[in-house]
Amino acid sequence: MAYKAFEDKTLGFSTRQLHAGYDPSEHHLAKAVPIYQSAAFEIGSYERSIRLFSYQEEGTSYVRFSNPTTTVLERRVASLEGGTAAIAMGSGMAAISSALLNLASPGDNIVASRTIYGGSDTFFKKLLPRYGVNVTFVANEDDPESFEAALSENTKAIFIETIGNPLCNIIDIERVAKIAHAHNIPLVVDNTFATPYLLRPFEYGADIVCYSATKYLNGHGNSIAGICVEKGDFDWLGNGKYPYMETFYEEHKNTIGEETLGRELFTKKMRIEYLTELGAHISPQTSFYLMQGIETLSLRMDRHVRNALEVAKFLEGHAAVKEVSYPGLPSSKYFELAKKYFPGGRAGAIMSLRMNGGLEAAKRVLDRVRLFDYMVNVGDAKSMIVHPATSTNFGQLKEVSEAAGVYEDTLRLSIGCEDAEDLIADLEQALKQS
Ligand SMILES: *Cc1c(COP(=O)(O)O)cnc(C)c1O
Repeated sequence: MAYKAFEDKTLGFSTRQLHAGYDPSEHHLAKAVPIYQSAAFEIGSYERSIRLFSYQEEGTSYVRFSNPTTTVLERRVASLEGGTAAIAMGSGMAAISSALLNLASPGDNIVASRTIYGGSDTFFKKLLPRYGVNVTFVANEDDPESFEAALSENTKAIFIETIGNPLCNIIDIERVAKIAHAHNIPLVVDNTFATPYLLRPFEYGADIVCYSATKYLNGHGNSIAGICVEKGDFDWLGNGKYPYMETFYEEHKNTIGEETLGRELFTKKMRIEYLTELGAHISPQTSFYLMQGIETLSLRMDRHVRNALEVAKFLEGHAAVKEVSYPGLPSSKYFELAKKYFPGGRAGAIMSLRMNGGLEAAKRVLDRVRLFDYMVNVGDAKSMIVHPATSTNFGQLKEVSEAAGVYEDTLRLSIGCEDAEDLIADLEQALKQS
């Protein structure tokens, strides 16, 4: 058995989502990845203790740091994304907040796009400033120059989402990455809505990709988790901007090794400092559920986007609907960018619509949908609907929420994997009476 599918980098996406990163010979040849439901592991010997605790040997002593089940998940997602290393955490917010804490210290700045997930928005506006990191939101995220204008001497990262929420706006990743690199800073991308199947931001210059794995990666709405992946070629050491990276490198180069640190300095630092000290660890059971979900990621996403395009076209032609925001539609202002980043109209499966009849019409749709579940989640195999103004964007200033495409008559849909005809029939009966 010389051939090892789990480390064959030439295999296609769907093959890797089933095999990458898992060597059965290290796990009693179990075909499903075993769940190591153990809080700690035996050290074995005095010498090994020194190797483990100096990080010279990659192994598990205590689960907050790593777990063999989770290690397979991390390797699998790194492979799907085309990165050198990944770190799984207890939630998408844990992954995003730790990634940014890993980059910025008091006195530093982060530049971010405006239409971002509510949790990230609050983290940027309320929490980070308390720790001395201020965040500048770009004036116009449709214009890459606006990112350039927002940068300052102390900016340590640009943060964007690949598909904004709920406007489904698309940022020109490649141009923003070029701006970031011209200033020696990384581009950090939340790719939750797109998944590595539809879009791999590294191919357009991003340096770090974060996920709420709670959504499409899991796909079945049964756990909460997050993952960060590192591309592996950013130069953290040469430009004097990341003193804590330099210190970390000096502290660990003789044990972890210069080659490994050259490839995954960001991830090692995030694991040893933030995962270990803040403790937002993922349970091995959750890692297992995630891998189960990821086994069908490409199949589900094909179905999600096909259904989404059909539903979007139906809604666009309906008299009760004022407008539909879905970048796969030629009427979308983001259609040109979608053609580049999501060829074939495959621009994810989230969309929003506004009702001609205002708030009352939107309320009636929420009351009357039968297949669509009224919930704030997205990215489940089952379809969902929500009223952002009174949930995900609750309490925002009017101009802030309207800039993100949230009006009182806005509804957001997350299109699932059901039969498209059934989804359309459900929306049709809900819209008819409004
Ligand atoms: C849900 C979500 C998050 C937060 O993830 P959790 O797993 O809920 O912590 C971050 N970004 C986006 C785009 C999301 O949809």
